[in-house]
Amino acid sequence: MAESFAPRRSEPVFARLAIIGIGLIGSSIARAAKELNVAGTIVLADRDEAVRKRARELGLGHMVAETAAEAARDADHIIFCVPVGACGPVAAEIASSLKQGAIVSDVGSVKGSVVDAVSPHLPEGVAFVPAHPVAGTENSGPDAGFPSLFLNRWCILTPPEGTDAAAIAKTRQFWEGMGALVEVMSAHHHDLVLAVTSHLPHLIAYNIVGTAEDLEAVTQSEVIKFSAGGFRDFTRIAASDPTMWRDVFLHNKEAVLEMLGRFNEDLALLTRAIRYGDGETLHKHFTRTRTIRRGIVALGQEKPETEKLRKD
Ligand code: NAP
Repeated sequence: MAESFAPRRSEPVFARLAIIGIGLIGSSIARAAKELNVAGTIVLADRDEAVRKRARELGLGHMVAETAAEAARDADHIIFCVPVGACGPVAAEIASSLKQGAIVSDVGSVKGSVVDAVSPHLPEGVAFVPAHPVAGTENSGPDAGFPSLFLNRWCILTPPEGTDAAAIAKTRQFWEGMGALVEVMSAHHHDLVLAVTSHLPHLIAYNIVGTAEDLEAVTQSEVIKFSAGGFRDFTRIAASDPTMWRDVFLHNKEAVLEMLGRFNEDLALLTRAIRYGDGETLHKHFTRTRTIRRGIVALGQEKPETEKLRKD
């Protein structure tokens, strides 16, 4: 067998894994867990017949079930890889198929609302360890996934208070087995942190790309032609899945509004500096933000621009 991108486990963490939702994240987990032997048998399910067919063609996992409940039956670990707003209904659908000792998880980009929506459906003897792999691309669907997506990326676990420690440890092992770095925090804290590091940047990207499109003085072709000047990065982010991101903003409303409030205050300060020609304020601000960028590169979470250009 060809060498894997990360060490292959001699023993799987879970004998049977069920993945509900075969999109970018679900199909990446299926690929990574199979290639690295993190799960023994992998069963997938999706509500869409065409997606199930494609998953079979791609050879994702070992089996593709017709329903989520069928996939969840006898599974040791069940992961919801569906939009945040769909996690509660999927939990209700599979609840009666779960076996004692099973560990349920999800990959949603918002955690508080998922904990609230899923927990009431789970029977006694089933643990819930929510997870958020902070890794992704702007692409969706079963073809978009790839096995090294989680390599050296953070995966945040947000187990509700009182969750079985062994279930948390196994979920950690599962993600580490796919090359991820794992951190545990409360759902509330997760939602606050991600509001500023991910949700707000997406909202800004969606907004600025929309603004450029609406501009009458700048033609569409100019927007595309001169897009290298920062705008191109925004268009990549703004191409992210509309359903997923609609759900993120509907379900992390408070934290996003809080961060948006602060953002608007800071923007007002920069606006003022530009209006009054206050170069010192602008220079100080840009110097501070440059340090953050260098910190991210130093932590290995992003490649310097020059290296990226070489790779492309
Ligand atoms: P995706 O590629 O769009 O796949 C989502 C899958 O869920 C699709 O197969 C979709 O089926 C299915 N689905 C949609 N609504 C559903 C419903 N109501 N009930 C059952 N299934 C439903 O999305 P993804 O990027 O993998 O995202 C999945 C989850 O991962 C989301 O919760 C997202 O917040 C989280 N996440 C995403 C990223 C990222 O960068 N993309 C990163 C980290 C975490 P249809 O095709 O029929 O709609």
